[in-house]
Amino acid sequence: MPTASTPTHCPYCALQCGMALSPLPAGGVEVVERPDFPVNRGALCGKGRTAPAVLSSGVRLTSPLVRSGGSLVPAGWEEALDRIAGEFARVRAAHGADALGVFGGGGLTNEKAYALGKFARVVLGTSQIDYNGRFCMSSAAAAGIKAFGLDRGLPFPMEDIPRTGCVILVGSNPAETMPPALRFFDELRENGGTLIVVDPRRTRTAEHADLHLAPRPGTDLALALGLLHLIVAEGRVDEEYVRERTTGWEDARAAAMAHWPEYVERITGVSVPQLRQAVRLFCEPAAAMVLTARGPEQQSKGTDTVGAWINLCLATGRAGRPFSGYGCLTGQGNGQGGREHGQKADQLPGYRKLDDPAARRHVAGVWGVDPDSLPGPGRSAYELLDALGSDVRSLLLMGSNPVVSAPRAAHVEERIRSLDFLAVCDVVLSETAALADVVLPVTQWAEETGTTTSLEGRVLLRRRALAAPDGVRSDLEVLHGLAARLGVEKGFPTDPEEVFEELRRASAGGIADYSGISYRRLAEGAGEGVFWPCPADPADLEDPEATSELTEPVDGGAGRQDGGAGRRERGTPRLFLDRFATEDGRARFVPVSHRPAAEEPDEDYPVLLTTGRVVAQYQSGAQTRRVDELNAAAPGPFVELHPRLAARLGAAEGDALAVVSRRGRAVAPARITPGIRPDTVFMPFHWPGEGRANSLTNPALDPTSRMPEFKVCAVRVEKAAGT
Ligand code: SF4
Repeated sequence: MPTASTPTHCPYCALQCGMALSPLPAGGVEVVERPDFPVNRGALCGKGRTAPAVLSSGVRLTSPLVRSGGSLVPAGWEEALDRIAGEFARVRAAHGADALGVFGGGGLTNEKAYALGKFARVVLGTSQIDYNGRFCMSSAAAAGIKAFGLDRGLPFPMEDIPRTGCVILVGSNPAETMPPALRFFDELRENGGTLIVVDPRRTRTAEHADLHLAPRPGTDLALALGLLHLIVAEGRVDEEYVRERTTGWEDARAAAMAHWPEYVERITGVSVPQLRQAVRLFCEPAAAMVLTARGPEQQSKGTDTVGAWINLCLATGRAGRPFSGYGCLTGQGNGQGGREHGQKADQLPGYRKLDDPAARRHVAGVWGVDPDSLPGPGRSAYELLDALGSDVRSLLLMGSNPVVSAPRAAHVEERIRSLDFLAVCDVVLSETAALADVVLPVTQWAEETGTTTSLEGRVLLRRRALAAPDGVRSDLEVLHGLAARLGVEKGFPTDPEEVFEELRRASAGGIADYSGISYRRLAEGAGEGVFWPCPADPADLEDPEATSELTEPVDGGAGRQDGGAGRRERGTPRLFLDRFATEDGRARFVPVSHRPAAEEPDEDYPVLLTTGRVVAQYQSGAQTRRVDELNAAAPGPFVELHPRLAARLGAAEGDALAVVSRRGRAVAPARITPGIRPDTVFMPFHWPGEGRANSLTNPALDPTSRMPEFKVCAVRVEKAAGT
């Protein structure tokens, strides 16, 4: 094991802050700042700083657990793997391969995501695989593909943000989700630029804004249409850009013109003068950006909502110009890479479509299987969870905790309980792992090497810095062991670099082309990473034949700033500067119109609920709730509400409130603030039990991205009995 400090990256969010891990004399590691990494320049939030606490946590699993007589009891690895393989073989024989499900996570490394997708399709032969990243940025991905032909969270590095003139930050709260990123927005303002924050709450991020727009939850689409209407009406459209670099403007323009500012004010609650001010701030500088996050994306119209904000960028000539354009701030640590390498229901490695015959031939060639043997697209994440216990009888779950993080969580929990068999790989006994028939204890970020892809499309190397505890194995070893037991002896190496070498070949020629990236290149210099797409010379690949018909990039080398040697050094930091990744090189306007949320308030449920995050917890909290310092900072859920609503309820600060939706009930103390709309309450979703916010949320799905509507549903709020 290394005796000096090891440069690596935080295990949590998509910013993937650089840090180093230094060995401690008594064992274990401590975090050391890495000012050389350009994204966070040494800064870390509390989650990153305390991340080693989970490595040595007393609740860490160090032995497989097998259910016996209703309880989980310690077992040996051979027994645990035999049991999983035996159950999967039995279910497949009895009910067919699609009765087996696989559910992955946006925190898995690229190597694990790749191996998991291959395992599902080659070993199990099932189409039923998806991952929790579907709940993250899938609407932005779908909208990006429609408009640009390519989806990479940010098509430019974070360091471009301070160099633009205005940023509209829609439904994003980096002050809580990724605090080191806040400095980019502060630097933007120091440079004379402006920040507009769109959020129903006056968040800590909104405190940094020049203009805060607080639309009613679920109306961001109408807001974007109202802004576009004004842009047209005020003659601010970049006609030359629209003519030369886009298609479809007339239909998009007509749709926007049907959304009069006064009509938009009635829908959103944002006043016409505020709309005009936003248009002025956004249109006057030479460069501007729109950045979205979960607010507009986690809606049953998330794809159209993001599309409306992209239309705004296209009409004003922002996309594909220096220090300008549209981007999505992804959430999970490898949310970006996790969706590129095959654990998504409809995709193969390299961001290829599973129903594309050429893509199937290419990937099957790399895998050494018959293309016709690969299953077709399967169910999306919520649909897969909803099918548990009926069509899907057994599940392998890796890197996710849907009992806390899925919408309509009580129903999902009930579906999980109804499975014939559940196997979970995790580092602690999460709420979902506690329901399993077999739990496998796996290595964590600092105990294994692997790559992740940050929100910038920057591929990074996380290095092993200390040995895993006895009794723990890596996810790759799990897949290797299960594959062998299910009759596939080859193709599931346990060495992450060997997996990455195969991933390179599988991705070659795809949208997310990693073929020019290697561990050696990622370790070079200050470890700044390489931006995809980064195609290799075929001669660089171990098996040039594997690139066969897809050696030419699908975008024809389109839209890349860096060519030749520069491109090979850092990959492609900036996309679309010369052309978009569509067939004709033009971006596509998509005409969209306002429609209400799937569930609007009524007499029985008169208040809107929106959910989100707090700075000291991460996702379902499976790891961060085990860290004392983080728990002290954020010990439990709360219901944030406006003083007027609190007065109507007769509620004081700290009173227990029951929030009730058509799907369930959650109880948490009141937190009263004038910084939220009077018609809305907010709950963070990191906790299980009676304060579980996702007991309330609505699984209504976006028709394109299959994203559930986490961000808005109708609820009733009342004082809980006994208060
Ligand atoms: Fe980790 Fe994200 Fe915090 Fe950075 S901002 S330290 S990546 S959780």
